[in-house]
Amino acid sequence: MSKPLDSETLVKEVSKMLRDMYPDDETALDSVSRRADPFKVLIATILSHRTRDEATRVASDNLFTLYSSARELAEADPKQIEQLIRPVGFYRVKAKRIIEVSKIISEKFGGVVPDEFEALMSLPSVGRKTANCVLVYGFGKPALPVDTHVHRISNRLGLVSTKTPEETEEALKKVIEKKYWVKINDLLVKFGQQICKPLKPRCELCTLKPFCHFYNQKSRSISNSKNSSTNSDRIHH
Ligand code: SF4
Repeated sequence: MSKPLDSETLVKEVSKMLRDMYPDDETALDSVSRRADPFKVLIATILSHRTRDEATRVASDNLFTLYSSARELAEADPKQIEQLIRPVGFYRVKAKRIIEVSKIISEKFGGVVPDEFEALMSLPSVGRKTANCVLVYGFGKPALPVDTHVHRISNRLGLVSTKTPEETEEALKKVIEKKYWVKINDLLVKFGQQICKPLKPRCELCTLKPFCHFYNQKSRSISNSKNSSTNSDRIHH
């Protein structure tokens, strides 16, 4: 059985691993979070859907050089926006969406990004993860954005046992102390990109092994299969 993991140990161990391995690394959303402009966080997060961090960073920088508010972007030429955000996947659809979102913010919310979860969720292309990102990085409110990395790692560690990121968000909120919500998201995204990868987790480098449900199960099944092949060798010799 793996040991239960508490919030503080999780934050401490993951921070240490990442600091040791990649002292200067940052994700696209980190750079957005430092800007702390809710409009930019919202638009960059929409651009980041199904897109690599580097492409999101380039597209966001291109876009925000020319458009820095909802009112400006609401009036933009879609063709120009497509060219500016071309590095991201689905750039044509996203160009339309971010103009549409900007129009709604201008007309319905007086040009100001709303700071309430439900209001954010009412915008097109905004799901739970995006709404939570805006609350956390744009407004500094406690929320827990859950993407595929956070969902996968939380289940591997045995912190939760869930099928969807939405279920993971709810379950994690019960086991992670509120003061760590914001940090956990940032850390687990980097941890998932660099150590606990989707297909080949680098468990040999990971100090969370003693707590990890997935690792302990894998070790047990390797040792069981070794034992059964040793027994079968004995029978056949
Ligand atoms: S031990 Fe392996 S599977 Fe478990 S958290 Fe670490 S890297 Fe991920």
